Amino acid sequence: MKMKKFAVAAAIAMMGMSLMACGGKKTAESAAESKAEGAASVKAVSAGKLIMATNAEFPPYEYHEGNEIKGIDVEICRAVAEKLGLELQIEDVAFDAIIPEVASGKADLAAAGMTVTEDRKQNMDFSDTYATSIQLILVQENSTIAGKEDLSGKKIGVQQGTTSDLFSTEDFGEDSVVRYSKSMEAVQALSQGKIDAVIVDSQTAKEFVNEVKGIKALDSSYSDEAYAIGVKKGNTELLNAVNAALAELKSEGKLDEIVTKYTKAE
Ligand code: GLN
Repeated sequence: MKMKKFAVAAAIAMMGMSLMACGGKKTAESAAESKAEGAASVKAVSAGKLIMATNAEFPPYEYHEGNEIKGIDVEICRAVAEKLGLELQIEDVAFDAIIPEVASGKADLAAAGMTVTEDRKQNMDFSDTYATSIQLILVQENSTIAGKEDLSGKKIGVQQGTTSDLFSTEDFGEDSVVRYSKSMEAVQALSQGKIDAVIVDSQTAKEFVNEVKGIKALDSSYSDEAYAIGVKKGNTELLNAVNAALAELKSEGKLDEIVTKYTKAE
């Protein structure tokens, strides 16, 4: 049923485009129209919608504010959806459930400050990178840990399934890593002295340091992160549409505007 509707929409869009092609003259307006109509052929999971799987525990990229989910990724994906003529719908799931949601076709996009890694590329295709970051090590204010090299044999808190989890398990071994479903839970455990450090992406780390007393971020970086939007493997149509939309948002200055809006407090 859904498929049928979709096929019809796509056929109408194609007719529209061929009509325009016959018309000859291409005004700016008709170019914009053809872009929107072309977008109707993007294979979305649910007709008219662009479903974004995320984990809203990662301020300022995605977080809860009252009943709403807000943040940089939300605004970027809403702007992408608008360009594709679709309405954004957000699915807030555990971080390690995001890739399965997209891979199994329940969501169209993974957008969660998600870093591109070789392993993740096995299960999802990634858009062009839209932001870069580093990870920081958080410790108690009076800690003797001064950098990465002091972490061996220590208890390191991470959010399950994130690159902090993957990299610290690789670097310090399974016994050192304590996994939480949210980074904030790791930070609370740190402030209570249950663990020695937390590794988390820098902007989120800074927000947590402002919120939780008695902890600090070390100056040195733990890892480099490059964020991208994930789509189902092989869905090149959607991938190309997302990349085109991201490129437009970048050239329009909208991408910078969104990032600045959420990070200006720093
Ligand atoms: N950038 C990290 C990752 O991709 C953390 C993302 C997050 O916690 N939302 O795993």
